[in-house]
Amino acid sequence: MCPVCKKAGIPVKNTTVRHLVHNKLADQVGNKDYYLCSSEACDIVYFQPESDVRFLQYQVKVPVWFKKGADPKYICYCSKVTEEAIMDAVIDYNAKTIKDIIKLTGTMQNCKCEVENPTGKCCAPVVQQTIKKALEAK
Ligand SMILES: [Zn+2]
Repeated sequence: MCPVCKKAGIPVKNTTVRHLVHNKLADQVGNKDYYLCSSEACDIVYFQPESDVRFLQYQVKVPVWFKKGADPKYICYCSKVTEEAIMDAVIDYNAKTIKDIIKLTGTMQNCKCEVENPTGKCCAPVVQQTIKKALEAK
C-alpha cells in the first residue's frame, strides 16, 4: 500500500527503479525491490513498504503514463510511442490490432521494458487497452 494515498502498489524490480530514477539519486535506491503507486492523483512513484525510501514523479526520468499530468504520455517507453500516436493510428489510419500499431507507429521495437518502462514490464497489454479505448472513441 502506498504510504501517502493508501492505494495498492504494483511490484517493481530494483533494477527498474535504479535505471529510472535520476542518476544522482541512484545511491539511495539500495538493493531491495519496490512498489509503483497505482493512483492517478498521487505524486509518489516508487515506494518500499518497510522503509521510508520513496521517489516522486520529479525524481524519475520518465512521466508515468497513468499519473495525472504525464507529458508526454508514453505507452511504449522503449520506442517512445505516445497514447496520442496510438489513438491517431486507430482513428485516422484504421489500425485495429497490435500488429497494425507496430507497423504504423514503430512501437515495441528494441524492447528493454525492464529498464525503460516504469512498471518494468512489456507495454503490450497497455497498447491493447489503448486500441480498445480508441476504437470506442471512434
Ligand atoms: Zn500513492
